Amino acid sequence: MGIESRLPDGILLTSAEKLLGIARAGSLFPATFGLACCAIEMMSTGAAHYDLARFGMEVFRASPRQADLMIVAGRVSQKMAPIVRNLYDQMADPKWVISMGVCASSGGMFNNYAIVQGVDHIIPVDMYVPGCPPRPELLMDGILKLHEKIRNEQLVERPRKGESMADFRKRTG
Ligand code: SF4
Repeated sequence: MGIESRLPDGILLTSAEKLLGIARAGSLFPATFGLACCAIEMMSTGAAHYDLARFGMEVFRASPRQADLMIVAGRVSQKMAPIVRNLYDQMADPKWVISMGVCASSGGMFNNYAIVQGVDHIIPVDMYVPGCPPRPELLMDGILKLHEKIRNEQLVERPRKGESMADFRKRTG
């Protein structure tokens, strides 16, 4: 008989890892900046009608040092790329990135020398949101999927299912 069945009603057991994941997912602070037309939809998502505050993230932070989520909203020009990287580096760990719209994810219609062909060339991306521009509902869908990912993140890496300890050590160094 498991320990759960001996506990009174209303008591749940979980791990510190799960608890931390729930807390992190429920209190993301996005950085305030937009790069192009997608940013208008991002602003709309944060306004009263769509009400991002429902998900614990009503505060867009003007300083990257106070933000843990970067929403790359719009195409990234070559000139802007080092600045985006700099902002990302200034954000405290743990941090996450959403690539919003086809331009941020792949350059989109701007297949030319001036635009980075995907922001994942300069920073790691956790979630890609398709569209040109994605509507607020789609951005919120990406945010909720990111929440799910954060809730299930592991604090320490463990061997994958069926992976031997030797292979695990080789993979993780
Ligand atoms: Fe603008 Fe569309 Fe590119 Fe977004 S995906 S930055 S809306 S052109």
